[in-house]
Amino acid sequence: MNKASLYYSFENIREKEIRMLIDGFGRKHNYLRVSVTERCNFRCQYCMPEKPFSWVPQEKLLSFEDMFEFIKVGIDEGIEKVRLTGGEPLLRKGLDTFIKMISDYAPNLDLALTTNAFLLEESAQKLKSAGLKRVNISLDSLKTEVAHKIAQKDVLGKVLRGIQKADEVGLKIKINCVPIKDVNDSELIDILEFCKGKGYEVRFIEYMENSHGNVKAGLSSQDIQNIIRKKYNFVKGERVGNSPSQNYFLDDGYKFGIIEPHLDDFCSDCNRLRITAEGFLIPCLYFEDALSIADAIKKKDIQEASNILKKVLQNKPEKNKWGSENNSDRAFYETGG
Ligand code: SAM
Repeated sequence: MNKASLYYSFENIREKEIRMLIDGFGRKHNYLRVSVTERCNFRCQYCMPEKPFSWVPQEKLLSFEDMFEFIKVGIDEGIEKVRLTGGEPLLRKGLDTFIKMISDYAPNLDLALTTNAFLLEESAQKLKSAGLKRVNISLDSLKTEVAHKIAQKDVLGKVLRGIQKADEVGLKIKINCVPIKDVNDSELIDILEFCKGKGYEVRFIEYMENSHGNVKAGLSSQDIQNIIRKKYNFVKGERVGNSPSQNYFLDDGYKFGIIEPHLDDFCSDCNRLRITAEGFLIPCLYFEDALSIADAIKKKDIQEASNILKKVLQNKPEKNKWGSENNSDRAFYETGG
């Protein structure tokens, strides 16, 4: 390498350092979860009451153009992974165009979607062509009646066809499942085997208590492990990167995950920020304080949006406030989970 190119690469490194989003506790933030709507076509017992609330009025939602302006700010400041979520993100019209805007701006971005897959059969190809790379799909049961009971709607056939289509078009798939006592706990091995057979990673998520869902009890990580151990040997793997999922490996090498908020302390290496569909920037799921970037973005005041992003980051608590004062009562369907 000659002197000039050496100098150039140091400049690049310096530039990259300036652009990192570091909070008050030294944690690097490179992951933005974007909730594009809080509306959902399911009423999953663990997430949403059957008869909710009032939705955010349509006119208060950020347009995709405004969201994109903010995402660009994030990417320019160091965001490397964006996940679109909700509510149900496929309910929002024009999602493929939105994905294309983001993907064209940052082709190397890790661009993912979390969905219930109900509308995926008809949209998977468009989303993939627009630049989507990965999908995390909620699949809580493989039995028609149980899936119906959880989602409070007849969903299973369409969900399975959505998964199949996503696979066919080449989207990388992970499956999320929330085990609920006396509802789907007898199916965990079936779900694991379904995913193993298809080559998808499954992640069982411990039910997180909240005031919006209506579930008597979820299963702990230990409960989930006890069920799987009845049929399979497995070993615990290392935690990888900033993922909240604890990996486990069956004897044949198949990897499954358990997201263990009751056991684990994700906070020490948290790299996430969230933005709601109306533009609130949330530093932590279990922390009430948030700031809106909506006015700044609508005024095209990019500098102000960037200042708000940094203010929110500096205000992020070292540890979430789950179970304590200043915890947040925001619903998962607002924050995107
Ligand atoms: N509609 C999409 C879906 O169904 O995946 C995206 C939104 S959903 C709020 C995102 C994730 O949050 C899903 O994986 C869901 O299982 C999870 N989730 C929602 N409520 C939860 C709870 N109370 N405990 C644990 N996970 C929850």
